[in-house]
Amino acid sequence: MARYSEELIEEIRSNNDIVDVISSYITLKRSGRNFFGLCPFHKEKSPSFAVSPDKQIFHCFGCGAGGNVIHFVSKIEGLDFKDTLEVLATRAGIELPVLDNYEDEKTAKLKSKVYEINKIAAEFYHENLYKPTSKIAQEYIKKRKLDNRTLKAFLIGYSGNFDELYKLLKQKGYTEEEMLASSLIKKADGR
Ligand SMILES: [Zn+2]
Repeated sequence: MARYSEELIEEIRSNNDIVDVISSYITLKRSGRNFFGLCPFHKEKSPSFAVSPDKQIFHCFGCGAGGNVIHFVSKIEGLDFKDTLEVLATRAGIELPVLDNYEDEKTAKLKSKVYEINKIAAEFYHENLYKPTSKIAQEYIKKRKLDNRTLKAFLIGYSGNFDELYKLLKQKGYTEEEMLASSLIKKADGR
């Protein structure tokens, strides 16, 4: 799944002052260096919910809830991490990059390459069947009484030497990753 960078997350966090954000949900009163209020995450009559502007964190001495501004908004709004970041980025006027589906596109591309490879392999094996080196296969076909039409229709083939297919695919510009994904080519030990 696509994710925002750590730098961007930090930018969003540091541009949303925790006291400002929490003040929009509950009333905070300053006491010394910190702010206190009634915890929104548990029922209480005297404030045990503390917010530190210096550390930009909150902590409830009653229920133990705590964290930074992202945790607070996520918890109080019931949003997941990504949606919380979007809310806070909007609030701070930070433009988020469109999380493109780079990974998805990569997978789709690989899939179509694998499909092509399988098609090439089937045709390659099929042609292989008619070569003089495929005597074993030809005799088998004769025995099974498979006519040429059947052989063509089902692209029945003979694999013979695996290295040949590898060379052919390499020549056609397929990468090792694509070939391995097709499962037609396997990595030999020590290669
Ligand atoms: Zn609490």
